[in-house]
Amino acid sequence: MTSLDDIPVTQLKGVGSALADKLAKLGIHSVQDLLFHLPHRYEDRTRIVPMGSLRIGDVAVVEGEVMKTDLVMGRRRSLQVTLRDDTGFLVMRFFHFNAAQKNQLVEGTRVRCFGEVRPGRAGYEFYHPEYQTNPPPMPAASEATLTPVYPLTEGIQQPRVRGLCQQALGYLERFPIKDWLPEALMADYQLPGITEAVKLVHLPPAGSPVHLLMEGCHPAQQRLVMEELLAHQLSLLRVRQQIQARHALPLLPAGDLAERFLEQLPFALTGAQKYVVKDIRQDLSQPIPMLRLVQGDVGSGKTVVAALAAIQALGAGAQVALMAPTEILAEQHYRNFSDWLEPLGVRLAWLSGKVKGKARQEALAAVAEGRAQVVIGTHALFQHEVRFQRLALVIVDEQHRFGVHQRLALREKGVGGSLAPHQLIMTATPIPRTLAMSAYADLDTSVIDELPPGRKPIETIVLPDSRRDDIVERVRGACQAGRQAYWVCTLIEESEALQCQAAEVTAQELSERLPDLKIGLVHGRLKAQEKADVMASFKTGELDLLVATTVIEVGVDVPNASLIIIENPERLGLAQLHQLRGRVGRGEQASFCVLMYHPPLSNNGKARLQALRDSQDGFFIAEKDLEIRGPGEVLGTRQTGLMQFRLAEFERDKGWIEPVKEMAPGLMAQPKAVDALIRRWLGENSRYGEV
Ligand code: ADP
Ligand code: MG
Repeated sequence: MTSLDDIPVTQLKGVGSALADKLAKLGIHSVQDLLFHLPHRYEDRTRIVPMGSLRIGDVAVVEGEVMKTDLVMGRRRSLQVTLRDDTGFLVMRFFHFNAAQKNQLVEGTRVRCFGEVRPGRAGYEFYHPEYQTNPPPMPAASEATLTPVYPLTEGIQQPRVRGLCQQALGYLERFPIKDWLPEALMADYQLPGITEAVKLVHLPPAGSPVHLLMEGCHPAQQRLVMEELLAHQLSLLRVRQQIQARHALPLLPAGDLAERFLEQLPFALTGAQKYVVKDIRQDLSQPIPMLRLVQGDVGSGKTVVAALAAIQALGAGAQVALMAPTEILAEQHYRNFSDWLEPLGVRLAWLSGKVKGKARQEALAAVAEGRAQVVIGTHALFQHEVRFQRLALVIVDEQHRFGVHQRLALREKGVGGSLAPHQLIMTATPIPRTLAMSAYADLDTSVIDELPPGRKPIETIVLPDSRRDDIVERVRGACQAGRQAYWVCTLIEESEALQCQAAEVTAQELSERLPDLKIGLVHGRLKAQEKADVMASFKTGELDLLVATTVIEVGVDVPNASLIIIENPERLGLAQLHQLRGRVGRGEQASFCVLMYHPPLSNNGKARLQALRDSQDGFFIAEKDLEIRGPGEVLGTRQTGLMQFRLAEFERDKGWIEPVKEMAPGLMAQPKAVDALIRRWLGENSRYGEV
């Protein structure tokens, strides 16, 4: 039997190839796709608003009589139609119009129109409103229905999409949508079947509870939300399944490298580190690829854990790749790992996008021939030209900047191209539990929930920038007492150039005001070598003060630094501020973080800085961040398509995450259902499952 999925949109009236192409841009190919192109909100168009009470920005229905219709020549030719009702006037303005339209809108015609109020040269105006001439009477309030509003793409207007969706609904009688979820389960949750839900959401019948629909809480909407979250969960489990369908080299702990490594460390592992190391050791000894996420707050000591994982792979004669998101962080790992492992006879290589020419050829050869046992670098590690001889473990630091795609791409880099490498993913952004459950369903998780002993809490101080002089004096005092400090300039996040410039100006200013201090500067526009040199001088204590952009956000570890000044913290997310603050408090002395904001602070801004002042618990801060900014920002995955929902909203719908997580494994046993649900909800995005 034909299903809705097999009926192309071109079967609908009025859909030619041009419109079909536009619809394809929205991921709509079949009638079913159209039915799952869901309204993201509703408008109440059942009330006519008197023109005299309109305000700029109102979205409203008005009704009146045409007073006059003019062709206006100005910068852009437009048709200007002035309407009036008993209370006032309104202009409808059209930049695209035809003669028929002009002739229809003659003086005295009754017009009902819907649009957004803008200020215009002739008073308030609607640009290109939807309108109707000689409209039928408005339905009585009790029969009122809401008007769905759909996501659009260029060249398709709201009424068009609405009309198509209504046409598509006509197919439902003959071709109901396949319901993949057990009826009994839906009954438990008191949710409708899929066909009923889709129908209601596109065309809420008169008398539907308006407030529930407006808020996305109607059972029909919730049914769809739940299914959407489930589809996302399934797609991640599918990724996991695809990776784990490959074999991996079992890495059995061997030799005494681990013992020798631990002996040379100046500290003992914390209990939490030991637990996590045990999880990893267990995973690595299996013939299926490990997929493990290690979460740990700033400074919890993830690097040592990574080193122990690497050592297990080395013991089995395999290669390890360690990838970090920035040059600075990769460079720092390279230095740490070299210090730790070279004395034990391990050979390392360094590879980043900035390693060019002969050095690059040499590094590539060392990796391909297996002379380099541990390779450390940035994304550059996983370009096509990088061939490994015997890669069995990939360590990714700072997960929130990598996506599912990269995880999948790694499958092919393993031993002989047939064995997939084990993957260890480390994140310094503690991820709220609910979010982790939905965004990292493909990973097993371990948490390092304990800081190394002897850490002093960081005292956080919130001050306006009018206190800059005092703050500069504070820096002088700390450095004269033999400690070191960071001064972080944050400008507009999107503009790296401006941020670097601001840091340069600040470094200049501080050098003039603090002539006795040795001041260094790092920002994203320095050459890798320059950056590395500055960081190295700061680490050895040659520099007292490091002026930096947010490039130092992750990973930088200088225990003698005990003061950090962050300019304009109100511009950054909480998690990022927590990361930055984590640059201090790594040594024995009491540490301070000064948040130097630019007044006035919004209420929201105040609450955020206060949360940071009051807490040093990364998980608490991450929860706050999630509440305030939403999951896309917290995970940094806005661009990757992950966590972009059609209907679901994280805060409103997080109650579904637990039930969905329970439902998913059962469904995985039905590959047809999984395919269909993923295709239904993720459409083109789901292709990432086939990378
Ligand atoms: P993060 O988890 O933020 O990556 P790091 O691995 O950079 O943390 O560790 C932070 C600092 O703590 C480093 O200086 C590291 O040497 C030190 N460290 C790690 N584990 C311990 C431990 N068990 N005891 C004492 N210090 C430790
Ligand atoms: Mg780290």
